[in-house]
Amino acid sequence: MSDPDEALLMARVGELWLKGRNRDHFVRALHDNLQTALSAALSHVQVMAGRGRLYVGVGRAEDVPRALAICADVPGLVDVARVERCPPTLDAIEAAALALVEARWAGATGSFAIDGRRTQKTLPFSSSDLNRRVGAAVLAATGLRVDLSRPDRTLSVEVGPRRAHLWTAACPGAGGLPVGTAGGALLMLSGGIDSPVAGYLAQKRGCRLEAVYFHSPPFVGEATRAKVQALARRLAARQGRLTLHVAPFTDPQLAIRDHCDRRMAVLLYRRMMYRIADRLAGRRGLDALCTGEMLGQVASQTMANLTLVDAVCDRLVLRPLLTHDKQESVALARRIGTYETSILPHDDCCALFLPDHPVTRGTAPLMRGQESRIDVDALVEQAAQGVESVEIEP
Ligand code: ATP
Ligand code: MG
Repeated sequence: MSDPDEALLMARVGELWLKGRNRDHFVRALHDNLQTALSAALSHVQVMAGRGRLYVGVGRAEDVPRALAICADVPGLVDVARVERCPPTLDAIEAAALALVEARWAGATGSFAIDGRRTQKTLPFSSSDLNRRVGAAVLAATGLRVDLSRPDRTLSVEVGPRRAHLWTAACPGAGGLPVGTAGGALLMLSGGIDSPVAGYLAQKRGCRLEAVYFHSPPFVGEATRAKVQALARRLAARQGRLTLHVAPFTDPQLAIRDHCDRRMAVLLYRRMMYRIADRLAGRRGLDALCTGEMLGQVASQTMANLTLVDAVCDRLVLRPLLTHDKQESVALARRIGTYETSILPHDDCCALFLPDHPVTRGTAPLMRGQESRIDVDALVEQAAQGVESVEIEP
């Protein structure tokens, strides 16, 4: 970074501190994820690790709101605030507090409180010395009154052995765990609303994602594939880059259309998808699959039918939306910025060649009977061989 920082942000980390020995690993992952997300959007930003905190130097003051918003979206942070930094003496802290209050609380009315704390007991003053000293100075400099139980605004001060930080407002972070600390998962990403949201929720619990999209040209158009890429790009922002695998799915669908009972087509498609995804996950060293399925949402997502798809794969299947309502999924999609892309019209390969009355409750023997009419292994192998992989940058 060339210039001295115009502004400094301080991010507090969450559940990480519960993780004892893994702590350094978690903080390093969080540091890298933050730097990646910020660098994808802004040019003069530098993440630095401190004692139990991450700091972000922002080279241009006008980038601060954007930088705060980006940090608030990175899994693993409890909150993030723009802070002022000064030496850890009462004189310096008082001066910094007055400057901050003048800048942020000019013209404000009502009450305030000082929330001062020390991170080490070795400092030559107590937390109540700190609060009294800063409180008295702010009281004298503003027309505000002190209210310690329900203040209208709070000035926070955190003092460590080498420096103090002061701030007046913190943005809540996304919570969760840093992406990459919980293992890798292969997200089955369609062009719909739910699967990107499921991917986001898995990332938020620390999963690093790759994605697979099953493409059935010419029945499904290139626009759908482009849409899936756009959704993958959204998810990539939280982890740097994301590998999207496009698996050819026309042949399995045609085989099922031509040789099987179409009333079971959706379940048969889905078992083929799961088999191919499972194979691909093995090849990529990924520990789990992840889907946007919700219990009971459609015929293929009943307990019985989810059991039938689980039966064909070896891996854990993460279904972060399993117990959510569609409305909750839509609300999350809006929040993470995938909704507008997801609602663009697209072709759904699961809707191809279907009869009016599909079977809602399959059984394993029924499935196996149908699948004995096609060469499952060869079709899976052929699809897995034909996968095209693209690196998606945020
Ligand atoms: P979505 O909105 O994510 O498409 P949906 O409610 O439309 O979900 P389905 O079409 O039944 O539900 O699909 C259930 C899940 O199966 C999806 O969430 C996704 O994980 C996976 N899936 C469906 N179609 C595809 C596809 N063409 N490629 C990859 N995954 C798919
Ligand atoms: Mg769908």
